Amino acid sequence: MKINLHEDIPDSGLILDISEEPEKIAPLLHGLDFSVEGPVAAHLEIMRTKEGALLTGHLCAALRLTCSRCASEYSLRVEPDFTLYYVVGIETEHEKELHASDLEVTMIPIPELDTDDILISQIAVELPIKPVCGEKCKGLCPKCGIDLNSERCGCVIEEEPVVDTRFAALKGFKVKR
Ligand SMILES: [Zn+2]
Ligand SMILES: [Zn+2]
Repeated sequence: MKINLHEDIPDSGLILDISEEPEKIAPLLHGLDFSVEGPVAAHLEIMRTKEGALLTGHLCAALRLTCSRCASEYSLRVEPDFTLYYVVGIETEHEKELHASDLEVTMIPIPELDTDDILISQIAVELPIKPVCGEKCKGLCPKCGIDLNSERCGCVIEEEPVVDTRFAALKGFKVKR
């Protein structure tokens, strides 16, 4: 949903309760490493300011992620609260300094907000860098690839021998007598 800061926000502020179906969100996640399960619900309050808009919000979403250890899919619930301050225009160096100590400012070239963009960027902030299905996930066997969470294999995992690089050059070198 697009919101024009001049036309769509009453003086008392705009309160939005949104629920976006996963089918609508899916095409917007292009290039991101997750999908959503069920609708993404959000409560947004937008106040017009002299420079742009102040937005506070809360969202709830269930994400489907791929475990970085065992490659299985798992669900993760995220419920971030956020405050965003929008300033319309192109930021000058002087303004950058003024805003540096302030809360984070997002510059927008035109007086318009896109709620889909807001939801997706706030979900993206919540994504774990290394998604893991559970603390105790044992991952896959590095030899046979079996999922060690549900199965067991007889592989013997040898510790990689530490090769002293000083002697590596001598490997395969036969001494002639
Ligand atoms: Zn896992
Ligand atoms: Zn194995």
